[in-house]
Amino acid sequence: MVPVTVHRARWVVPVEGPVLENGAVATAGGRIVAVGRARDICPEFPRATVRDHGDGALLPALVNAHCHLEFSALQGRIPPRLDLVAWLEAAMAGFSGLSEEEIVQGVRKGLAELHKFGVALVAETSNTGLSLPLLAQGPVEFHYFYECLGFNNLQSGPLEADFEIFATEWARGLSNFSAAAHAPYSVSGRLFDRVNRWNRRHGRRNGVHLAESQEEVRFLKEGDGAFRELLEKLGRWQADFQPPRLTPAAYLDGLGFLGSETVAVHGVWLDEPDRQILARRRTWVVLCPRSNCHTGAGFPNLPELRRAGVRLALGTDSLASNEDFNLFQEMLLLHERYPEVPVLELLALATLNGAQALGREKDLGSFAPGKIAALLFIPFRSSPDWGEALLLAGAQGEISWAEAFGKEA
Ligand SMILES: [Zn+2]
Repeated sequence: MVPVTVHRARWVVPVEGPVLENGAVATAGGRIVAVGRARDICPEFPRATVRDHGDGALLPALVNAHCHLEFSALQGRIPPRLDLVAWLEAAMAGFSGLSEEEIVQGVRKGLAELHKFGVALVAETSNTGLSLPLLAQGPVEFHYFYECLGFNNLQSGPLEADFEIFATEWARGLSNFSAAAHAPYSVSGRLFDRVNRWNRRHGRRNGVHLAESQEEVRFLKEGDGAFRELLEKLGRWQADFQPPRLTPAAYLDGLGFLGSETVAVHGVWLDEPDRQILARRRTWVVLCPRSNCHTGAGFPNLPELRRAGVRLALGTDSLASNEDFNLFQEMLLLHERYPEVPVLELLALATLNGAQALGREKDLGSFAPGKIAALLFIPFRSSPDWGEALLLAGAQGEISWAEAFGKEA
C-alpha cells in the first residue's frame, strides 16, 4: 500500500471550494487523495503520517504565468524608468552585454528563486532557447514560449524558415512548447499569422505582450511615436507600414490571434471595447503589476477587467523589471490598490487561473483529488482578517513547501 501523509493546518485554502478552518490535505504517491476538515480526513486514513503545520495556511503551490528567466542576470541592474521605451532600450543594452555563461547562471539562479517563492509552474518567454534545457531539469514545471520578433524583412513561409528552433525535436515533441509573438509594435501582421498557424497546427497556445504601454496604443492608431523611432533606430522600420488604426485587442482580434488558448500579457491600456473583445474570446490576460510600475508602463485596471469578465492570471515578468519572483508581492500590491477585490480571488489569480491559462489545471492550481501534491505552508497568527495576514507573511518570504511534487520538504 502506498503510504499516506495527512497535512493539517489551522487554515486550508483549496482555491476551488470554501476555505477550511482546521483543514487537512491527504497525499499519497505524489498526488492529492483527499481534502476536507481534519476531523473528517484523519479517521479516513488511520495509518497515515500526520504532519500538523499549525497556525497558518496550506495552499496550492503557485503559478507564475509570465517570466523571462534569461534576464535574471540583470537583477538590480536596470533602474526604474519613466516610460516603457526607455526601459526597453536599457534592458536590450544590458542583455546584449551579457555573456552566454552569465545568462545561463542567471537562469539557474532564477529557477532556484522560483522554487524558493513557492512556484510549481512557470511560463517562460525566451528568444534565445538557452533556458529550455535548464527548465527541463526542474525544479519547476514549465510552459515555454519561444518569442518571435520581426517587423520587417521576414518571409511568409513556415515559421521554421526564419526561426530554426521550430524544426527541432524540442519544439515538435513538447506539448508545453509554444510560439509567441513579442508585441504588436515589434511583430508584423504577417508574422502574427505565421505564429498563430504554427500553434494551431501543433495544438499549442498563443502568447503575446498586449497593451502594455500608451505608446503601443498610439503606434497602432497613428503609426508614429516612440516605437516608430525605436524601429527606425534598430533598422527594423517597414517603409510602407500602414497603421491598422485599431486598439490593441481589436487589432489582434482582426488577425484571428485571440482565443481561449491565447495568453496576453500586461493588458494595462485596454479600453472597454477591448476588454469586451478579450472576455468574448475567453483570452487570458496575465497581469504583472510590479513590472508595470518598474517600467513606467502604468497599472492594470483590475476592477474593470473583472467587471468585463476577462480571464486573468498573474506573473512577475523578469528580474530586469522586478525585484524578485515573489508572487505574494504582486498580490499584496493589487490588494493595497484594490482592497475591494477579495483576497481569495487574488490567490486564484496566482494558482488555479494560471494553471488554466497554461492548460495544466488537471495537475496543478488547487487542492483536489488526483492533482499533483504541491503544497505550500504560510505561517501567520490567525486574525479576523486572515487573508491580509496571509498575503503579508507570503510577501515577507515566509513560504515553505509542505510537500513538493510528492517529496517532503
Ligand atoms: Zn514580458
